[in-house]
Amino acid sequence: MSKSTKTEDEYFAREEIEKRHRLAKEIEARRGAQEAEELKRAHWMRCPKCGGELHGIKFRGIVVDRCFHCHGTWLDEDELIKLAGKEETHKVVEAVVDAFRRPKG
Ligand SMILES: [Zn+2]
Repeated sequence: MSKSTKTEDEYFAREEIEKRHRLAKEIEARRGAQEAEELKRAHWMRCPKCGGELHGIKFRGIVVDRCFHCHGTWLDEDELIKLAGKEETHKVVEAVVDAFRRPKG
């Protein structure tokens, strides 16, 4: 990928993210507190992909939410920031992927 394409991709990604933030705020403003609480209760620690139960596994000082049904691995924003702030982040991410790798067979 060329540098300009990467910059262009990041620009469009930022625009998309800002649009999604605005939309989420609009939906939140329309949604009542009771509905928000019911949604939270129904989805708390449930996998966003398959609906399976998520398990918080502490790994290198970060709690990684893991779905052992579809093998999804989820990080909250602050957890992602903690990872990004560390030196050799890619090695940490590789270690997370290795740690949660599905057993063969
Ligand atoms: Zn899942």
